Amino acid sequence: MRVILLGPPGAGKGTQSQRLVDKHGIVQLSTGDMLRAAIKAGTPVGKKAQGIMARGELVPDEVVVDIIDQRMGEPDAKNGFVLDGFPRTVKQAEELDALLAKRGLKLDGVVELRVDEGILLDRIAKRLEDTKARGEAIRPDDNPESFKIRLGAYREQTAPLIDYYRDKGALKSVDGMAEIDDVTRAIAAVLPANSGAGGS
Ligand code: ADP
Repeated sequence: MRVILLGPPGAGKGTQSQRLVDKHGIVQLSTGDMLRAAIKAGTPVGKKAQGIMARGELVPDEVVVDIIDQRMGEPDAKNGFVLDGFPRTVKQAEELDALLAKRGLKLDGVVELRVDEGILLDRIAKRLEDTKARGEAIRPDDNPESFKIRLGAYREQTAPLIDYYRDKGALKSVDGMAEIDDVTRAIAAVLPANSGAGGS
């Protein structure tokens, strides 16, 4: 199973990715998580990404394309993957097409989580509260100013991917406003039932 989850920040991509991972025995490739790990490790990529991410802007395409290329080549990605937060620009989508082609791979689908933008701010505020309540570190970009910039970046740079994948006949849209379990079921319904382990 190879799938892209598309949707604005706070749409639930991370939650649903984890469920696809558990169900299909695939790996989650989250460029956000990978960049946060790079920042924590103090790598050159992390140093480059830190300020950009905190502001809520997008890091340069070549940076994320490189880390996705490397990660996709690792053994545990052989069974398949769910891309969460990548691609985020048309350029990244084109580069992804090339990365897949060079490995002879095809996507099983691109799932768009449709959400009402008004609700996203509430969801992010709740995520912030929950994180604080658990005593965990707060993401530097989970504040209202950065969130607005992240939403703007989504609208301007990522939303065009909906048409990009619709034109290719790959787009499946599900209602991301439903209960978490219902969203999981809706995603399962638009993806092939038996793709994944075994290398299809
Ligand atoms: P969210 O989906 O909640 O906004 P992510 O963890 O996916 O959070 O991304 C956090 C930040 O990491 C983004 O705002 C951006 O700065 C950076 N980032 C993640 N993925 C990409 C990408 N594919 N291209 C450019 N920047 C990215």
